[in-house]
Amino acid sequence: MPSKKRLEDHEPALPDLRPQSLSEYIGQEEIKKKLQIAIAAAKIRNEPLDHILLAGPPGLGKTTLAFVIAKEMGKNIYVTSGPILERQGDIAAILSALDFGDILFIDEIHRMNKAVEEIFYSALEDYKIDIMVGKGPTARSIRVGLKPFTLIGATTRSGLLSSPLRNRFGMILEFQFYSENELVEIIKRACGIMKIKVEDDAAYLIAKRSRGTPRIALRLLKRARDVMTIKGKDVLSKDLVEKTMDILEIDELGLDEMDRKILKTIIEIYDGGPVGLEVLASTLNVEVDTLKEVHEPYLLRMGLIARTLRGRIATPLAYKHFGYPYKLRGGL
Ligand code: ATP
Repeated sequence: MPSKKRLEDHEPALPDLRPQSLSEYIGQEEIKKKLQIAIAAAKIRNEPLDHILLAGPPGLGKTTLAFVIAKEMGKNIYVTSGPILERQGDIAAILSALDFGDILFIDEIHRMNKAVEEIFYSALEDYKIDIMVGKGPTARSIRVGLKPFTLIGATTRSGLLSSPLRNRFGMILEFQFYSENELVEIIKRACGIMKIKVEDDAAYLIAKRSRGTPRIALRLLKRARDVMTIKGKDVLSKDLVEKTMDILEIDELGLDEMDRKILKTIIEIYDGGPVGLEVLASTLNVEVDTLKEVHEPYLLRMGLIARTLRGRIATPLAYKHFGYPYKLRGGL
């Protein structure tokens, strides 16, 4: 039998800045609307929530939302992640310790191995698991019943999920990048909690440079607060935020050093592209996954690169950003 300790190993502390309810959770209006209905209905029927897949780039608040859902349902949440669930036994231990309606949150669910994933098929559909005991000719399978629970999976790459797993989620919620106004709200809320006085145009400048991502907005806010402290000021002004951006080398489009390196590599080494992501990753000496999940979505969204059948190309906007003359290339 799994001990409670085992589950707590998977459970991180809840950071203060996290919103505690759907009404405190800013933005992602479509997602919130769907969740409000599903949560209210599940509560009336006294049933666990249907399994939920949260999909989207890192730092958009998927983990945060999973905690909010648990709070709204008044249930426990246990947190783990796809790559650390190595053996079927790990899952059996976790699943059989869940109480009625508890939530299991699996981050990076697309990185679960096949054997582990297969255990989930019957767990999600029938709240049962089959586990193998013993080895060789004496090995046999025993069926274990589970209390009805809710799986919340988070993924940055929903396309990598196998269809049997994907089909077992009752709700697939796709996260959108946040608008500047929503980020301003998130920044001001955090300033309130952190007791930082912030001017409106300072909050707006942080929002503008945050690539539509709360995690980045809060990181920039914390660095700007450092600059404010060092300068002996007690109000975060636009001027202080500008200084912070210069120190961090974040430009007016919110691009960091790696984004600029990516664009310059496409333009300068590959003559504007097309170039495949794998080739680009090895030229830059970075992981393909980091390019795909962290940098590419924002560069695409900003219209600085485009996808073609033969790879990524730099757009005229990217050339303009660096002050390079744009030349049309044949065959595109
Ligand atoms: P993901 O799981 O998508 O990678 P996350 O949930 O881990 O993202 P964090 O990087 O922890 O997101 O987000 C940083 C902080 O931003 C959160 O602790 C929370 O305070 C705040 N935050 C994120 N999204 C929102 C939101 N929609 N409304 C209010 N605060 C938010």
